[in-house]
Amino acid sequence: MTIKETTVHESQVHSPRLRAALYLRKSRADLEAEARGDGETLAKHHRALCELAGQHDVEIRRAYQEIASGEHILERPQMQQLLHDVSNGLYDLVLCMDLDRLGRGNLIDQGVIQETFKRSGTRIVTPRKIYDLRDELDEEWTEFESFLARRELKLITRRMQRGREQSVKAGRSISKRPPYGYLRTDELKLIPDPQTAPVVKWIYALASNSLGPSAIAERLRAMALPSPSGNALWSPSTVRFILLNPVYRGALVWGRVRSHKVREMERARYHRVVMEPDAWIVREENHEPIVDCATWERVNNESKRPPTCASANNKKKIHPLAGLIFCATCKRAMVRQPVKNRPHNALRCATKGCPTRSARYELVLHAVQRALSDQFRGVAITPNPEQTEFTAVSDSLAHVIARTRQAREEQLKRICEMYEQGVYTRTQFQARYDEVAEQLRQANESLEALKQERNETNHKTNRAKSALNARARCEPSHLFLSCKGDDLRALLIKSVRRIEYTRTLNDTGGECPRLNVELLF
Ligand SMILES: [Zn+2]
Repeated sequence: MTIKETTVHESQVHSPRLRAALYLRKSRADLEAEARGDGETLAKHHRALCELAGQHDVEIRRAYQEIASGEHILERPQMQQLLHDVSNGLYDLVLCMDLDRLGRGNLIDQGVIQETFKRSGTRIVTPRKIYDLRDELDEEWTEFESFLARRELKLITRRMQRGREQSVKAGRSISKRPPYGYLRTDELKLIPDPQTAPVVKWIYALASNSLGPSAIAERLRAMALPSPSGNALWSPSTVRFILLNPVYRGALVWGRVRSHKVREMERARYHRVVMEPDAWIVREENHEPIVDCATWERVNNESKRPPTCASANNKKKIHPLAGLIFCATCKRAMVRQPVKNRPHNALRCATKGCPTRSARYELVLHAVQRALSDQFRGVAITPNPEQTEFTAVSDSLAHVIARTRQAREEQLKRICEMYEQGVYTRTQFQARYDEVAEQLRQANESLEALKQERNETNHKTNRAKSALNARARCEPSHLFLSCKGDDLRALLIKSVRRIEYTRTLNDTGGECPRLNVELLF
């Protein structure tokens, strides 16, 4: 079949030779062939198409040569230009090696290409066949071929995905670039990069010293160290990405980040989304780590704290037991930590090697609430419906403190009596007296502080009404059970001096540890 035999285009009347454009693009198969040493594909195709143009005696006005290898029109600037020119009627023919060089992306792309060629009456010439999309038969044929091309593309994509997974499972790094801090051997193995690995080490060291990603990025920028992308623009997210990457503890990970295509104006942009860890393919102990496992875990436990809370109100959320509960063995304050893949938190001793076992934080908190509630059982104050929640708390506490103060005063009197009777030695008396006198002093102080606080609160008129019921208001015992969050924290700070936590390895007494709650008064 020759072009002269097909329907004569109107423009032919004025121009003796048909105007043609070449469209050149590498397919995936070409890239693979080149890798095998099959030579430059595009140059080869260019020669073939020029020959084809010679056979049909057409004039080549322009060659569109795609450098990008994207499947979609959005990713191919030359294709966009070609479509634009075709729709402006610049060409009678477009020469390409195969129909699927034009497009084998999705249906929408397919439709755009077909519509553009159909409307302008531009024919597509391949070494095999000439397509005139105005001809119904050709159109059907084109649709069928592109349908096949799309199907094939899907199969290729799926095969490639499987191949990637297998590579990772075999320990080969197949990302576009090796991760920052590493070099890649020809066998696709990762080895620490003497240039950048120390930077990664330093980032982790800074993070271990409780520096956040923003502060670390600032230090890196100040030192003008090149960032993973090659410039000196270290951003907090770059730092966070490095801190969260298991590759530095020696694990090879695939599928941590997926790129989603976003259409923005004329260009395709990629949106990076960090996937859930259960979607990752991880191969531990794959290569030489840059940071040791313990450091990696510690840094990651710290950076996993919800950053939104801190940045949203710029105030760290303090849990009700913070700084109040201590390990009975090493006397260090216990810390609350989220538990991986579990809805609850853990309360653990921060000392390395301490035999104290951790427990569920929520369980301990509830035990503390119950213990306090028991201590305050039977104490009641006169209800006052006008009171705000806050003054209700203060009042109940004031009541309890006043009662404790009375007991301490009586105790002091007794200690003096016993000393006079010769029951205590001078040193015993002094120690005992000092102890109780200190408790009395603190009770007085607390009482004074509460009074002051209450006066201040009374001045604030528009305080939120209490959500607690009347019974809880006047009975502190209930208050300890019903309060939550900040209110509970305020209540604990005012009433608890310290809580000692005991749970050793041979402790088989159920899930809950032994707690020794020491009151402030
Ligand atoms: Zn401990």
